Amino acid sequence: MPYPNSLRSRFIITLSIMLVLVMGILVFILHQLMIPNLISEERQSAHVYANALQKGIDQNARALGDMAYQWASWISTREFMEGRLPDFPQTHITPAVFSDHDADMMVITNINDGVVWVAGRNPSNGRFTSCATPEGPCQWTIEQVRQIQRQLPMADTIPRIGITPGFALLSTWPIARQDTPVQSGKLTLVRFLPGQWQLDAENSASTLTLSATRQSTDIVNGETRVDIDSTSDDSLRLTLARDSATPGYQVLMTTRLDRQGLRNGIERFNLTMLGAMGLLLGLMMLMLWIFRAIVLRPIAELSRYAVALRQSPGEHLESPPPWLQARGDELGIMAREFQTLIRELNDRNAHLKALTNRDALTGLGNRRLLDRQLPRILSLTHRLDRPVALIMIDVDHFKLYNDFYGHPEGDQCLKTIAETLSDIFQRESDLVARIGGEEFVIVLPDFDLDRAMDIARGVCTAMEAQCLPHEPSPTHKYVTISAGVAISSPEHPLAGEALIKRADEALYQVKKSSRNAVGCASPG
Ligand code: GH3
Ligand code: MG
Ligand code: MG
Repeated sequence: MPYPNSLRSRFIITLSIMLVLVMGILVFILHQLMIPNLISEERQSAHVYANALQKGIDQNARALGDMAYQWASWISTREFMEGRLPDFPQTHITPAVFSDHDADMMVITNINDGVVWVAGRNPSNGRFTSCATPEGPCQWTIEQVRQIQRQLPMADTIPRIGITPGFALLSTWPIARQDTPVQSGKLTLVRFLPGQWQLDAENSASTLTLSATRQSTDIVNGETRVDIDSTSDDSLRLTLARDSATPGYQVLMTTRLDRQGLRNGIERFNLTMLGAMGLLLGLMMLMLWIFRAIVLRPIAELSRYAVALRQSPGEHLESPPPWLQARGDELGIMAREFQTLIRELNDRNAHLKALTNRDALTGLGNRRLLDRQLPRILSLTHRLDRPVALIMIDVDHFKLYNDFYGHPEGDQCLKTIAETLSDIFQRESDLVARIGGEEFVIVLPDFDLDRAMDIARGVCTAMEAQCLPHEPSPTHKYVTISAGVAISSPEHPLAGEALIKRADEALYQVKKSSRNAVGCASPG
C-alpha cells in the first residue's frame, strides 16, 4: 500500500495536475481562439451567401424590369394609350406573353393612375383574364390593382417587392417615347411571390420566407441590409431587408443556413483534442511506468528495507538486496553505502557486545554473560538429559594480599588466576566468568558432581602451583583459592540463580571451616 505522500502518489498528482492544465489550455484555445475563428468564418460565408441571394433577387427583378421597360417603351403600347390601336390588348396581351416572361399580371394605367387595362393569370385557378377594368372576369385583380394604384404616385423605375396584398415583384415604367419625357400612362408588370420564395442562388435553390415590417430609417433606397442571427446552434438565420414598393414598409427575406460547418469544425477540434489528451495520457502512463521501474521501485525497496532495518530485533543487521547494490546509478551507490554502513554497524555491535559481556581486567566473561548464558546452557544440557556443574571460586585472603602488595599487584594476581582458569577450561562449551572482585564462576555442561569436585580440586592445586607469594596469608605462603561446587541435574533441575546460590553456599561453608579447599552443595 503506497503512503499518501509516497513518490508515486506525488508523481501521479503532478501528472494529473499537468493533464488538467493541458486540458484547460486546450479548452481555452477552443473557446477563445478556435470557436470565435470558426464563427467569424461562418459569418463570412453567410455574407457570401447573402450576396449570392441578393444577386438572385436582383436578377429576377432585373428580368421583370427589362420586360416592363420593353412593354412601356413599345410603340404599340403608346399607340394603344393614344387610342390608335384599340385591339392592342386582344392581339398583344396574350397568355403566352406571361408564361414566356415569367410574369403574372400587367396593369396599364393612364396619366391619372386610372386603370386602362388589366390582364393576368388568376393564381387561384390559373385562368387567364384580360379586361379594361378590374371587374367581371378580372374581379380577382381588384385588391392588387388598388394597392398598385396607391403605390403609383411614388413609383420609380426600380423593380421592388411590394405588398399586393400578398407579396409580388413589381416593376413600373412610364409609357413614353424614348426621346421625349411626355408620358401617356404607366405600365406595371407583376410577378406574384409565394410566402416561401424558391430562389435559385449560387446554383442551389434557397427558400426565402417573406415578411413585411414598418420601414426603418436605416435602409436607403435600393440597398439591402443583411442580418445574421446565430442564436440557434443548428442554424443561422439570415435576413435580407429591403425597402419595398409599398411606401412605409420594408420586406424581410429570411432563410436558414445550416451550421454544419461550424459543428464539423468544433467536432474536428474536439476529436483532435481528445486524441491529444489520449496521447498525453498514454505518454504519462508510459512515463509513470518507466519512472516506477527506474526510480520508484528501487526507492520503495530501499525504504522498505530501511523500515525492516529499524524493526529488526537482532543485533546483526541484514544488508540491502544485492540487486539494488548492483545498480550502477545513484540508487546503487546509496545501497552500497548502506551496505558499508551496515557492515561497520554490525562490526561495532559485535565489538560492543563483546565488551559488554567481557570483564575488562581479565578478559574473561562477566556477570552479565553468566546471567545470559547460564539459563540457555541449563536448558540445552538438560534437554540432552545431562547435568550441569557450577564451580564458584574465591581467592583466599585477598584483602590481605591487596593490603600487603598493593592494588596493582592484586590486579596482576587476578589476571594470573584468570589465565590459569582459561588454561584448564578449554572446552568450547565451558563458561568461565569473573563475577565479582576476586570471585570466579565456571559452568561445566555435562559434568556430574564427582567430576566437578575433581576438577575444582585440580584448580586449587593448579593455583597453588603458580607459586604466587602471599606472605600475609595465614593459610599458605602462596596464593590459594577456595571453591564451592553445585549441580543441576535433569532429575533435579535448578534455575541459574538457584545454582549460583548453592555453589556460593558451598563456598561459604568451605571458607568457614578452612581455605584452599573445595566444598560441595548436596545435589537435589
Ligand atoms: P576471604 O579469604 O574470606 O575471601 O577473605 P578476603 O580478604 O579474600 O575477602 P574480602 O571479601 O574480605 O576481601 C575481598 C577483597 O578483594 C577486597 C578488595 O580489596 C579486593 N578486591 C576486590 N576487587 C578487586 C579488584 O578488582 N582488584 C584488586 N586488586 N582487589 C580487589
Ligand atoms: Mg570474596
Ligand atoms: Mg576472598
